[in-house]
Amino acid sequence: MNKTKPAVEINNLSFAYNGRNVLEDINLKITEGSFLGLVGPNGSGKSTLVKCLLSLLKPDEGEICLFGQQLSRFDDWSDIGFVSQKANSFNSGFPATVFEVVSMGLYGKVGLFRFLTRKHKQEVRNAIEQVGMEEYMNANIGQLSGGQQQRVFIARALVSRPKLLILDEPTVGVDAKSVKRFYDMLKDLNVNQGITLILVTHDVGAMTEFVTDVACLNKHLHFHGDTKTYEEQEEDMMSRMYGHDVQVLTHNHDHPHDHDHDPGGQSRD
Ligand code: ADP
Repeated sequence: MNKTKPAVEINNLSFAYNGRNVLEDINLKITEGSFLGLVGPNGSGKSTLVKCLLSLLKPDEGEICLFGQQLSRFDDWSDIGFVSQKANSFNSGFPATVFEVVSMGLYGKVGLFRFLTRKHKQEVRNAIEQVGMEEYMNANIGQLSGGQQQRVFIARALVSRPKLLILDEPTVGVDAKSVKRFYDMLKDLNVNQGITLILVTHDVGAMTEFVTDVACLNKHLHFHGDTKTYEEQEEDMMSRMYGHDVQVLTHNHDHPHDHDHDPGGQSRD
């Protein structure tokens, strides 16, 4: 890992759905080893930007480089892990164990329905340990809580040893008490495993304690800097981004709902 090199570089990116611009002239460099919180209200273009990064949408203008390679030439997708809010959708009847779900992360490597070697099985166990779910290795995924299921999906993304992990609203459906533990685990992956993380969230309050950098998006990039600078400028930046005065979130993690302002207009529980 080279902490001065960008894992992601976005230059002059614009994107429109049916002629309506949702991203305008985005410039963003995310250095290797950072943990970026990408925040913005609902409909501000966060998921669209992630889809552009994952090469699922083609920008109308601009370019993206992943680990120094232009996206059109980038082919090492096992370096990129992705977990979405929709990952947390197993109902209690789904008959797969944690081990089996995490194994699915290796299908790209070993092919569907091939047998896993002893080495592959060890990789699966390691990924499950990385997210602290070893006790639940043989548990049915459908019987776990929302927070535990999200950990399992992170493990599924980790099993191919990504250098960059992108999480789109991963705490939707996770109860408020588990959110802090979940962010702690992400911070551990960042600090101890050196994985670059992009955490997309509308929940500004809870994440600032964990991330190294913050980017604020609402069609334009309104801010990008380290967490300390973000906290100094938060009030100003929020009113710029939302276009009116807003009450700044309290950073009280014991009572994460004790605020009047919910930028996404969504509740976490
Ligand atoms: P966020 O992730 O910040 O909630 P999105 O990137 O999902 O925002 O959406 C940005 C804007 O683009 C919103 O106004 C949304 O309604 C619109 N949008 C998203 N997906 C599509 C689509 N497939 N077709 C047309 N408009 C879309």
